[in-house]
Amino acid sequence: MFQLEEQHKMVQDMVRQWCEKVLLPHVPAMEKGEELPYDLMRQMAQTFGLGAMAGSGVKKKIKKLREGEASGADASGELMEAAGNDPMMMYVVIKELSRVSPGFAMSWGVSMGLAAGAIMAKGTADQLEQFALPLVTLEKIGSWCLTEPGAGSDAFGSMRSTARPDGDGYVLNGSKTFITNGPNADVYVVYAKIDRGQPRAEQPVATFILERGMPGFSQGKPFKKMGMRDSPTSEIFFEDVKLTKLHLLGGSEESAGRRAVKDSLGNERSGIPAMAWGIIEKCYQQTLDHVRSREQFGKPIGEFQAVQLKIADMYVKLKNVENIVFRTAWMTKNKVKDAAFINASKAYCSQVCVDVALTAIQLHGGYGYMEEYHIEKLARDAKLLELGAGTTDINLLTAARQELGLTG
Ligand SMILES: Cc1cc2nc3c(=O)[nH]c(=O)nc-3n(C[C@H](O)[C@H](O)[C@H](O)COP(=O)(O)OP(=O)(O)OC[C@H]3O[C@@H](n4cnc5c(N)ncnc54)[C@H](O)[C@@H]3O)c2cc1C
Repeated sequence: MFQLEEQHKMVQDMVRQWCEKVLLPHVPAMEKGEELPYDLMRQMAQTFGLGAMAGSGVKKKIKKLREGEASGADASGELMEAAGNDPMMMYVVIKELSRVSPGFAMSWGVSMGLAAGAIMAKGTADQLEQFALPLVTLEKIGSWCLTEPGAGSDAFGSMRSTARPDGDGYVLNGSKTFITNGPNADVYVVYAKIDRGQPRAEQPVATFILERGMPGFSQGKPFKKMGMRDSPTSEIFFEDVKLTKLHLLGGSEESAGRRAVKDSLGNERSGIPAMAWGIIEKCYQQTLDHVRSREQFGKPIGEFQAVQLKIADMYVKLKNVENIVFRTAWMTKNKVKDAAFINASKAYCSQVCVDVALTAIQLHGGYGYMEEYHIEKLARDAKLLELGAGTTDINLLTAARQELGLTG
């Protein structure tokens, strides 16, 4: 259970080569916002046949839906089926991308995993055909839009975006912020409250699919960020955006409500340990090399016990995170649900990821602070893992409440 199988090792080697030869040289330009990650995503999908594989999964589901055979399933289940029911393979790919560019991995994961996944899980055949298929084949790029300027951790309670029923459709108003791929996406999965004039607390949440260019729908400029600079982020705005039934995910207000948002968040959280794994593994391996070769006081710094203690600490954290990824893959494959584990392990992996990246810089001394050594980027990117998909404290509090039986 705790070892990669041969096919995983093969993919790991191939993706690593691609990341080092193709992706890495583009990272500086992407970090500066001079280049976007999307053409590279397309290139990667083509190189590894990922778009074609996921595309055939979507087509199968469309056929089943049209024949009335598909049942409601969660997003991870649907996407996993499309990817040959091998979650470890997906985690290995996320890990390899995150060794070089966690931002690239995030933009990819949001488009292919969150946005396409949400549509795959709850969409009608027409919605899968029109929106999910072009996302998984990378013809289009997706965003997943929950957070608002006044609604972060309290995403539901404080949500202000509203969809007012209007004839056969809806009129959407409001805004979202911190949206990954926001400036450039083509398809946006957007959560809003249905406003029939009832008090806000009683307004149900429903899911809509928006397309770039719809009248009244606009995108803000890319934010300047501490990390994940190779993943564009922005606000998006809705001003009387007219939506038809085709834009209501699942075709009814009830088909993709709060439960669907929570499923999507659970899927996002279960992928974060794999990102942490990549960052930690790269930082650890590079640090091992550095402390073996860097000499001070006449010997390699790795011979000083103070350094060895830090190496041991990094090693334990690497192995813990690795084990968590193996367990998460096993749970996903075997459809074992344990929301507390997903929440707590996301929080743990994110925290130790930041610790390890900072320790790596420390053990590289001044060199670690230089862009050329790459780990300062990994440390900046690592911090986002503690914020995205719920902050560490919110993830831990949610896990505790789940363990205490205080939530449904
Ligand atoms: C680069 C980036 C990309 C992102 N991408 C997306 C995206 O694609 N889609 C999307 O929808 N969102 C996205 N987010 C938003 C992210 O999910 C939110 O930032 C996160 O949920 C936290 O919300 P907030 O920033 O409003 O912080 P707040 O909710 O304001 O929290 C601020 C602090 O208060 C603490 N806090 C709040 N409530 C409690 C409580 N009850 N108990 C204890 N502590 C509490 C938090 O832990 C945190 O430390 C992204 C964010 C960033 C930075």
